[in-house]
Amino acid sequence: MSKVDDREIEQFLEKVFDENYEHLHAETGRGITPAMRQLAWEHVRAYWRRMKAVAEKVTETEVRLSLPSQISPTGRQYTIEGVVDVVREGDETIIYDLKTHNPDIVMINKEAYAGQLNVYAHIWQKLRGSTPDDIAIIATEPPAEVRKALQENDKDALEQEMANWDPVVRLNFDQNAVDKCVTHFGQVVDNIENGRFVPPAPEVLGKKKPGQKAPFGTAVCRHCDARFSCRSYEKYMASKGRKKTDVIVSDGSELEAEREDFLETMVDAETGV
Ligand code: SF4
Repeated sequence: MSKVDDREIEQFLEKVFDENYEHLHAETGRGITPAMRQLAWEHVRAYWRRMKAVAEKVTETEVRLSLPSQISPTGRQYTIEGVVDVVREGDETIIYDLKTHNPDIVMINKEAYAGQLNVYAHIWQKLRGSTPDDIAIIATEPPAEVRKALQENDKDALEQEMANWDPVVRLNFDQNAVDKCVTHFGQVVDNIENGRFVPPAPEVLGKKKPGQKAPFGTAVCRHCDARFSCRSYEKYMASKGRKKTDVIVSDGSELEAEREDFLETMVDAETGV
């Protein structure tokens, strides 16, 4: 592909990125600072540059996988659904799940990610009659070195750091992980249907997951719409000498902390851990 084509594609991606942001902003009423928006765009652009070879090989994108007639532990019927990207090369089929996370965090928390992707592979197997040859997470967050080179427009450093960055984390298909994950889904269905919504204990809010810099109470709860009525969050904030209604505002000088919080929130929200 020529350089002109690449530039045109990036212009198109930036246009779509802006349109998406405006749509989400209008729909949810939530906004982010211009600096955060710029970081998010750099995230998308770096990911595209690093992964375009794979992206161009994707044979089926956003494939909706659905497994109906599952039975929860108390006998409720439910359906499991997921969306994946599929690459077919010759006879080989690879299922990818995209996460806006750092590859190192995915590696450290491999088990948490493996369950969901194994379930997708299991559904694929049931629907298509063959086991995928490989399953992998594509962790799209560019490393700090790549972002720095992009911001400084340092072409040599960018080339070097792009080559060092491996966003693909391969996982092994494991039937035990499928069974465990499906059982967990069933338990969640029962809890929802029974109206059992119990937040984690306040001590959990003070803990960090492996590889994360902020504890759950900061990384996740700060963005939770239910926090003002949540007893655990109230106690967590009290342990820090704050009220649950206190608002933590980040400006440009706190950009890195805000960015980390944002990404860690996505880790927890998407893995359900
Ligand atoms: S504030 Fe929200 S995310 Fe945090 S523990 Fe309470 S309900 Fe869960």
